Amino acid sequence: MRQLLGICLTFATLLTAIDRSQAQPVHSERSFAIVIHGGAGANPQRLSATAQNAYLKSLEKALQAGYTSLAAGHSSLETVELVVRLMEDDPIFNAGKGAVMNAAGTHELDASIMDGSTKACGAVAGVKRVKNPIGLARLVMTRTPHVLLAAEGADQFAQQQQVELVENKYFWTQKAQDSLDRVRRKAKPGAEFKGTVGCVALDQSGNLAAATSTGGLTNKRFGRVGDSPIIGAGTYADNATCAVSCTGTGEHYIRHAIAHDVAARMEYGKQPLVQAAKIVIHQKLKPGDGGLIAVGRDGAMAVEHNTGGIAYGMANGNGVFRVGLTRRE
Ligand code: ASP
Repeated sequence: MRQLLGICLTFATLLTAIDRSQAQPVHSERSFAIVIHGGAGANPQRLSATAQNAYLKSLEKALQAGYTSLAAGHSSLETVELVVRLMEDDPIFNAGKGAVMNAAGTHELDASIMDGSTKACGAVAGVKRVKNPIGLARLVMTRTPHVLLAAEGADQFAQQQQVELVENKYFWTQKAQDSLDRVRRKAKPGAEFKGTVGCVALDQSGNLAAATSTGGLTNKRFGRVGDSPIIGAGTYADNATCAVSCTGTGEHYIRHAIAHDVAARMEYGKQPLVQAAKIVIHQKLKPGDGGLIAVGRDGAMAVEHNTGGIAYGMANGNGVFRVGLTRRE
């Protein structure tokens, strides 16, 4: 019986994580590190094997792209945008194609990006027609004196910048529709991840960057904005400390300025990255609120969550390469 249990547990662990660590160490002069997330949510054991595999595959693809970019010497800023774009195009995640639906039955998307070397940042909220909101957030950062553009103004800016526009229904998926229908029927939520995406990276020059993109929460009020486009709440990067991207019920992340709080604990309290991340997730926030990913200036990597699971990936130049659906395996 015990043997059987052992076999089952090993199988379950294999299913919820893929570890290719040591598969391809890179011997670079300077090291690099990357962590990604695809949202926090249900305990992965409640997901079907097919759903688990689909998440792991998508995470692996995005992580591989980011790893390759950093290994080739590209900047953390380029890399986080590239990875989040890829995840926005992947319908499995709640960002770009696959974004969840609001109470009006449409999609409103939020995204932000921050460069830890200059503290430059850009964000968009409530955009309805921009295929890749993270790209537009980057343009807000580089081509305007502002940090955050919202709703129609952001969509108009997108038009001026000639970024790719799509009809709002482009973002629609059956999964998002089912999830809205379930909430409307007040049925029990399905076993799934909320699916917001994020990426934090340390490049070979020692620069940090963070990016986050989301469709928000299913059945959110029309016009509701979460933490993902709020610098300091859902996203933060500062070369002096760390880069952070959050996922969960945005209102709590805004109240506690969660992303910035991780950096502040490191800067003022001299707490190591992992300790700072643990405190904000397990002491400031409440069970079920969500999770975060972070990378420190020294290359430390953190994935913390107070939900049943979090879809994540982490890799560095020293041979770590791992994706998983919970950090409590
Ligand atoms: N934080 C996002 C929001 O509240 C949702 C999520 O991360 O799943 O809009």
